[in-house]
Amino acid sequence: MCTEAPVFGSRGPKSKHTALMTTPGQTVPSKCLSCHASLDSPIVCTGCHRLYPMPDSADYFALFKLERRYRIDPAELDRRFLSLTRNIHPDFFTGKPDEMRGLSVRLTAELNDGYRILKDPVLRAGYLLERAGGAAAAEDRSVPPEVLTQVMLLREEMEEADGDLGALNRIGDQVREHREHTLERIAVLADDLESADEDAKSGLRTLINSVKYYDKLLAELPLA
Ligand SMILES: [Zn+2]
Repeated sequence: MCTEAPVFGSRGPKSKHTALMTTPGQTVPSKCLSCHASLDSPIVCTGCHRLYPMPDSADYFALFKLERRYRIDPAELDRRFLSLTRNIHPDFFTGKPDEMRGLSVRLTAELNDGYRILKDPVLRAGYLLERAGGAAAAEDRSVPPEVLTQVMLLREEMEEADGDLGALNRIGDQVREHREHTLERIAVLADDLESADEDAKSGLRTLINSVKYYDKLLAELPLA
């Protein structure tokens, strides 16, 4: 029942299976081209499992049908990730044509990347920053001088603690507190990126970089 879809350019559909594919980069229709069910995901029809390549214009928020904003519902992200994973899992396409299995593998990788980035508050903020046209935090590693001083002092305290677990735990608490406070500031800036000017974007970038410094310190502390 898939004969109406113009797939694979002039080659046309060769079989029921190859007709389930679309060419890369094409936009996804609102209804499934095979079964006409409404598509609630840009990459798969949950009705008939027809797969669609990730559209060039789609970002990870679109992939999970989430509003593009920093404050997301993590439980909703989990739920959509699990549902999509189940629907496009490569095991599901065992015995299907190579092209469809290949697409399922690529979409699974895309899905895992998207989930990893949206799930993590710092990566999510960095992703939104890039989508808003700001330089990636990895391209601009600037950190506020006061954070550098703070990290340097904390590292000195760690050395002076000389393995004293009580002292090291107290330092760990301080670092986690700084980290938490920085995350709150990241949330405020990242949630309003649409109207952010270059200064705000640059401020957000330095906060993201600051968290990385705190994470590095925490990794150097013995586990409590
Ligand atoms: Zn369908």
